[in-house]
Amino acid sequence: MKAANAKMIFGEVASPGVARGSAVVCECIAETQIARHVIDESEVAQEIERFDAAVSAAEKKMIEVQQKIGRKNGHDEAAIFEAHIALLHDPSLRETVTALCETSKLNVEAAVSEAIKTLSAAFARLDNPYFLERAADLRDIGNRLQQALSNNDLPAIPDFPDGTVMVTRELLPSVIMQLDEGAVCGVIVEQGGQTAHATILARARGMPMLIRVPNATEAIHTGDQLIVDGLAGRVFINATPQIQREYDRLEADLQAHKSALRELIDLPSVTQDNVPIKLSANISKGADAVTAASVNADGAGLYRTEFLFLAQDDFPSEEEQYKMYHATAERLKPREVAIRVLDIGSDKLLSYFPLAWEANPSLGCRGIRLLLAHPEILNVQLRAILRLSATLPVSILFPMVGGVEELRAAKAAIERAKTALANEGQSFNPEIRIGAMIETPAAVILAGRLAQEVDFLSIGTNDLVQYLLTTDRTSSEVATYYEPLHPAVLSALASVAAVAKEREISVSVCGEMAGNPAYTMLLLGLGFRTLSINPGELLEIKSAVRSINLQAADELAREVLALGTIQEVKECLRKSESRGLS
Ligand code: PEP
Ligand code: MG
Repeated sequence: MKAANAKMIFGEVASPGVARGSAVVCECIAETQIARHVIDESEVAQEIERFDAAVSAAEKKMIEVQQKIGRKNGHDEAAIFEAHIALLHDPSLRETVTALCETSKLNVEAAVSEAIKTLSAAFARLDNPYFLERAADLRDIGNRLQQALSNNDLPAIPDFPDGTVMVTRELLPSVIMQLDEGAVCGVIVEQGGQTAHATILARARGMPMLIRVPNATEAIHTGDQLIVDGLAGRVFINATPQIQREYDRLEADLQAHKSALRELIDLPSVTQDNVPIKLSANISKGADAVTAASVNADGAGLYRTEFLFLAQDDFPSEEEQYKMYHATAERLKPREVAIRVLDIGSDKLLSYFPLAWEANPSLGCRGIRLLLAHPEILNVQLRAILRLSATLPVSILFPMVGGVEELRAAKAAIERAKTALANEGQSFNPEIRIGAMIETPAAVILAGRLAQEVDFLSIGTNDLVQYLLTTDRTSSEVATYYEPLHPAVLSALASVAAVAKEREISVSVCGEMAGNPAYTMLLLGLGFRTLSINPGELLEIKSAVRSINLQAADELAREVLALGTIQEVKECLRKSESRGLS
């Protein structure tokens, strides 16, 4: 046998873990040859009829797969098919196809191909991760339509042998849903995005996945033996025995670490000096609530409701929202779920709710401002949450609060919704707790006044860092300026913690910073006693909490707050970590 050459290539970790197996390089998007010819005027109507028939056939097929998947993998995965079906019926798709048949006299196969190209290019031009991913969904739909037009079934996902690492240019959600989890142990994708549906699904399945691995389908050949290092973001192709041994050890360590963490599930989240630290979960869909409950999260400190809205092709009704929130809160009861009202605008856009163009959307109409400008959207959501509060412990959290006026206007909307519900004879908890996100510089400065208006505060460091440091959180150009350890950020956090203590109001940190164990000691030292984190990170943070002595944490925070540069802060944390290890 020819000796294989050992090689290493790099990518971005999309779903963490280590996978080892045999490569299967495949093309998930069938580049089928599309027949192209000019049609006669008399054939136009018939071609459009063929399009409508293909839509129905594709929808029927998708429903079949959706039902199969729903039975196997649960509602959340099947829900993505609903989004695809909605896209299939998007009026702009039919309009574009019809126009191409009528005016350019293209046969329907070519018209569909052109329409999908035009629409997905328009999505891609928006240069927004959400729409880039919808462009991939559209191409998936284009494939399905071509299959229906040619009366062929979609190319079946090959029966991968056990221990396969799938290597592909682009991964479609419909493909990952059909993968046999037992056989495929890891995925490598040349393109992809951190918030792409396919990535979300890989993460939910705990399947290690690397994205943005340049030229993976050329560098890797079917049959190559791969190590997918979804921790460091690299792939070893036909690794040497020495590297193999390194990974034997790493995998054993990871396994031991995982088992050790699971032992913490029933242990209390307390510091070495026995101070309880509340660890709640950030969730965005039902499956997250299941994971949160399985690691004993102290409720949900942040339920991002955007996911529900993003997965639809129109605003969900009050009843739909009630059902979704109910299913989620039911899984975590009797622990509280803080339901954040819709936080859209800037980088989170709904395809069915176009917003006016703004030069600086993150400084524009978003979060609570947007809801106050569209009271009908806010009212439906508030009614659903209030009705739920009659039977389950839920609270309402307002995003992107910029001042007392906004908060009072939002509270007035709650009062109006309560009055209307009372008049209709509907039950709700009149004492429902209300919270404000602290994620703008104004909210930091006014934290004391905001605290007088609400029952709890929740610090969204993701946005707070962006606004304090005037650094777009989605930009890779200025990524090095986006630094949670910037002294201005730490000083803002310390001041909110101090205000909350003085006003005796609970405050949590719910941005990504809270889920990083390297920051846990500092956050406790700054005065925080509640952290809200992704459920998958909760045990790691509990482990950190249980190793921390609060007195040492206080000292660390004091030391850090006296420093003036990011480098000094990092150095100080590094030293404290090595003291802890020694
Ligand atoms: C935050 O800004 O830190 C936050 C939790 O909200 P999101 O990430 O949803 O904007
Ligand atoms: Mg935010």
